[in-house]
Amino acid sequence: MSITREQIRELAEFQDTNSSAVSFYFQPSTPRNKAHKEDTILIKDLAREALHRLEGKSNESRGQDNKKKKDGVRADLDRIVRLSGELRSNGTHAKGVFACAAQNIWREYDLPPTLSATQLFVDRHFHLKPLAHLLGAFPRLGVVLVDRHKARIFDLRLGELTEREGLFQSLSRKGRSDGYAGYDGGHAQRRVDDEARHHFKAVAETLKDSLEKGVYEKWILGCQDVHRSQLEAQLPPYVSAALLGRFQADPGHITREEIRTRAEQIVQNWQDERRRELVTQAVSQARSHARGVTGLRRVLRSLELGEVQALLLGENFQSHAVECAGCGHIDAHLVNFCPICGKATQEIVDVGEAILPWVIRRDIEMFYVKDDPEFDKVGNIAALLRYRSENVQPIAPAAADVLAKAGAVYPGRLRRFASR
Ligand SMILES: [Zn+2]
Repeated sequence: MSITREQIRELAEFQDTNSSAVSFYFQPSTPRNKAHKEDTILIKDLAREALHRLEGKSNESRGQDNKKKKDGVRADLDRIVRLSGELRSNGTHAKGVFACAAQNIWREYDLPPTLSATQLFVDRHFHLKPLAHLLGAFPRLGVVLVDRHKARIFDLRLGELTEREGLFQSLSRKGRSDGYAGYDGGHAQRRVDDEARHHFKAVAETLKDSLEKGVYEKWILGCQDVHRSQLEAQLPPYVSAALLGRFQADPGHITREEIRTRAEQIVQNWQDERRRELVTQAVSQARSHARGVTGLRRVLRSLELGEVQALLLGENFQSHAVECAGCGHIDAHLVNFCPICGKATQEIVDVGEAILPWVIRRDIEMFYVKDDPEFDKVGNIAALLRYRSENVQPIAPAAADVLAKAGAVYPGRLRRFASR
């Protein structure tokens, strides 16, 4: 089963106070035939190391809870090692496993085989960075293949291609069988042209409908050049604007694998362009103190205020921060007590990972940025804002405390409070 946005959001919500949430990412190595054994050995090693770290930590704290926690994690790790035997048969997919035996959680998902490595984590939250990489700006995407007689429409979601519907112009066969010759030739030709026009119009209508209903946000067209102009002439402007790109294809002969590869290439190019554009915008907007911010401290603040439209994070961004156990506030200053609600804070080793649940929950567009000296200079983290709230009053600690006790998820409800 491949993963949906909804399921990623569910994973982002999860936490285990005993820190026994296990995240496992498997990226098949190539060449596959010879590498399988190495994969298995690698997974066993990762599991052993994780247990080892757990033993190390458990010396600090003893007790019944701790034993239960260790047993739970061990059971999950054993199951992952057993799973490594099956992973070979499914060589074209990567895999994500999210488990917490203590809370009876075991989720297994097929992922596109584009993960950076096979990795294993045991922590309070599930490790989401590899999923955030996949999500990026991955729109709900339709791939449409057309010729004069038929149209095939596919969904492309996180590397998974599913055929959704087909439109067929059955009358054209009749038109065609009449032939173009003879005294009726001109008439038959006109009929064929009319039918083709109807067919392309029907395809355009279907697309418009799917875009309006939000089934797709963007789409990609695969067809022969001769049919391209005929279809495009029928597209409403709104549908044309949502077209990401085109490739040459004969819908009757192209394989699924080819469709997927061609479409993903187009998405990749579009994402690269989008990322470059967002980096440029965020940095220049920040420079003019407009709709952009750079640097960890400012970006965290904008995230908490709910201003962020798009987040840009350096691929290797690493920074410590603290997180409040009470209200969830994250602070770039390593303070012992939360400046919002006064509760004790916990150190987080990787703030880039800690903010992902927020980002995913709020559907913030996010990109990892690699090898960009300009971006490096501004601190490897930046955001483009929807708006910039000016003169925000600080949140009164007492009020924040009340909200936190009432179960408010910071910053959602506090934000409204803060911007009043
Ligand atoms: Zn707090």
